[in-house]
Amino acid sequence: MAGPEFNVAESALLSRYFTNLDRPVFALRNLPEVVKGALFSRYSRTEKSLRRVLLDEFINEPDSGFDRLAGTPPVDDDMVAVRRAEEFYERVLVGYGDDSVAELAGAHVAVEQTSTLAAKALEDSRIGISPLEKSTRYVRFDRLGLDGRYLYYRGPELAHPDYEPAADALYEVYTGLVEPATLAIRERFPQEEGETDRAWKSATRAKALDLLRGLLPAGALTNLGLFGNGRAFEYLITKMAAHELPECRRLATDLHHELSLVIPAFVRRALDDKYGMPAAERIKQARDRVARQTPSLLAGEGRGGGLRPSVSLVDFDPEAERKVVAAALFPHSNAPLAEQSGDPAAVLDALLADRANRRQRVPRALEHAQYEFEIVANFAAYRDLHRHRMLTQDRQLLGTGLGYDVPPGLGELGMDSRFVSAVEAAAAVHGRLEKEVGPALAQYVVPLAFHVRWYFRANLREIYHLCELRTTPQGHADYRWVAQEMFRRVAEVHPRLAAYARFVDLGPGDELERRKAERRIDAKLSAINRLVR
Ligand SMILES: Cc1cc2nc3c(=O)[nH]c(=O)nc-3n(C[C@H](O)[C@H](O)[C@H](O)COP(=O)(O)OP(=O)(O)OC[C@H]3O[C@@H](n4cnc5c(N)ncnc54)[C@H](O)[C@@H]3O)c2cc1C
Repeated sequence: MAGPEFNVAESALLSRYFTNLDRPVFALRNLPEVVKGALFSRYSRTEKSLRRVLLDEFINEPDSGFDRLAGTPPVDDDMVAVRRAEEFYERVLVGYGDDSVAELAGAHVAVEQTSTLAAKALEDSRIGISPLEKSTRYVRFDRLGLDGRYLYYRGPELAHPDYEPAADALYEVYTGLVEPATLAIRERFPQEEGETDRAWKSATRAKALDLLRGLLPAGALTNLGLFGNGRAFEYLITKMAAHELPECRRLATDLHHELSLVIPAFVRRALDDKYGMPAAERIKQARDRVARQTPSLLAGEGRGGGLRPSVSLVDFDPEAERKVVAAALFPHSNAPLAEQSGDPAAVLDALLADRANRRQRVPRALEHAQYEFEIVANFAAYRDLHRHRMLTQDRQLLGTGLGYDVPPGLGELGMDSRFVSAVEAAAAVHGRLEKEVGPALAQYVVPLAFHVRWYFRANLREIYHLCELRTTPQGHADYRWVAQEMFRRVAEVHPRLAAYARFVDLGPGDELERRKAERRIDAKLSAINRLVR
């Protein structure tokens, strides 16, 4: 019988870096990102196991620079760490300059005190980056900054005399309504038998914040975290460097600087003279060229009238059902895709009828049906739905011409008139800013209650995911409605394909949306407490 792969001394060296030394499945730990990336990249060129590569080619190879990078004591000088990481990368990866190596290592980066508009730009990436952002439902947005001022974006490019007074006015109404709205909601939904104080207070506060979020301007500062791989970050930085908002361009520089401290080799090209900057310049020039080709804004979409929220299915494939059935049969057959055919009812039943909950995903065959929606809804709802990544989406500039929503719940509390006058005053300032600083910068003052127009091009698999997730009764009424409408449009044209999305909830939703969810949290908390005791 063969002995262990590593002797005692080797095991002592390696055990710090791997979760086990004797099984074929193991995780990496305590290694810098660049080393993990470099290690994985060696799989394509060596027959050795990864643990052996680390030992032979990195740890025991003085020229690799591994010791200086990952050895003890740890390096605490940023500049030294960066230089060493670069040196290591150069030494190990020379000759393996495949772009995809940059997908083998990742980083967590936090972006704080950034405007809601810039946050949307940062979260627009799909493959390779996962964002999470401060919620307008759980967090009050009217806390003051260290300088005693409301937290909204104040860049030098927005030095217009009307901007700050307009943003301050919106925050004052928001702050003035949070407590009265919470109290009124607590009167309307008193604490129920068996409901903890914590659950009731959280659910009622969330409801008040949901009703008031439309007052926040798009310049409202938020915090977010991004976890992503090097390649995705490289492209994000380049795109941000090309952005029309100066705030985003500054974020490109900041992101590049910070990520260069942790995954330098992987973001090196993001802003360099050979690739990054020319790519950013090209994005910018193409945007300007296409903008010049676009007919000027349609008359009749000016301020005043506005548009009702709407979800239109602007394109779909009449052949979708046949294509989904063919794709479902394909892996079980040896005939070409074009020759697959079957009884749609029987095939779809076999494929989908037994789903027990929305987390039981529908299979890839449903990706063969495509739908394109054009949506007009408030920017807060757009912001919620924008987070879905398995689709193609884009929006128009946020303005005030398409009208705004007043949450019906606020009317029921008799608090809608202050809301209406605040957003209308902001719209008047937006009109002046649009002319004087331009429509892109003018977006910062627009309250989230205003409508924006965007499109979603999604396949049926994503429709199932999005509509089932976003119609749960605890969701915000604004995005629930959009998801319900999307689903209705699909069901109108393809009733049989839609029929298995059994967890889409077309009902009215919960009046106090968070109540049941908070009770579930209580049940989990008491289960944990029982375990701890
Ligand atoms: C009621 C509710 C409350 C929420 N509250 C908050 C909140 O407070 N703050 C907040 O920031 N977000 C919040 N979200 C957003 C949520 O966390 C997701 O970011 C968002 O819904 C995107 O959806 P998704 O990732 O499921 O789907 P999509 O992006 O549409 O992707 C579909 C599926 O593909 C897979 N997938 C996509 N991208 C990746 C990836 N990079 N890695 C691995 N798998 C991937 C996943 O399985 C995913 O479910 C909330 C959502 C709901 C419904």
